[in-house]
Amino acid sequence: MGIIVVTGIPGVGKTTVMKKAAEGMDIEFVTFGTVMSDMAIETGLIKDRDEMRKLTLEQQKDLQIKSAEKIAKMRNVILDTHCTVKTPKGYMPGLPEWVVKRINPIAIVVVEANPTEIFNRRANDPTRNRDSDTKEQIDEHQMINRATAMAYAALTGATVKIVYNHDNKIEDAVKQASPVLK
Ligand code: AMP
Ligand code: MG
Repeated sequence: MGIIVVTGIPGVGKTTVMKKAAEGMDIEFVTFGTVMSDMAIETGLIKDRDEMRKLTLEQQKDLQIKSAEKIAKMRNVILDTHCTVKTPKGYMPGLPEWVVKRINPIAIVVVEANPTEIFNRRANDPTRNRDSDTKEQIDEHQMINRATAMAYAALTGATVKIVYNHDNKIEDAVKQASPVLK
């Protein structure tokens, strides 16, 4: 198996769904944001992962490319990342052409939920410094991400699977994601 990319806007529960779907399988779980933030903390750029999307675009791109080079060497990986990252300057592609071609994913999973569900999950997550988006902005971000996922697919031939992670339906979400891992 090559690299499977899993995406979803902050607070949608992508990590939880995919970790459950991959349980008992010989798959390594890699978080792009952790690879990036470890590098950024090491060099003194940031103290917390949620500061990363406020760095200059040049700094973010530099971290992104260095992380992609590291991850591209791995096999049997689920890569937990973002189709787009919301920066003060607009949506930044998480896997721009020079990154997605290095990673060359075989599949892209897009985890979604209703804007209201995501809004409430973010409000109830004290562990993270989440953006305070409105439901309308959450809806927009998910639409942008669907379009972006298909652009990545067009560049690589990866399939795109939309997985719905509705409240109290985690098992259902895991079922939707499972065929991608086979
Ligand atoms: P997460 O823990 O998945 O929310 O990721 C933490 C942070 O890592 C995000 O808010 C982004 O700043 C950064 N990040 C994750 N994946 C990417 C990516 N593919 N490109 C750029 N930044 C990323
Ligand atoms: Mg996560």
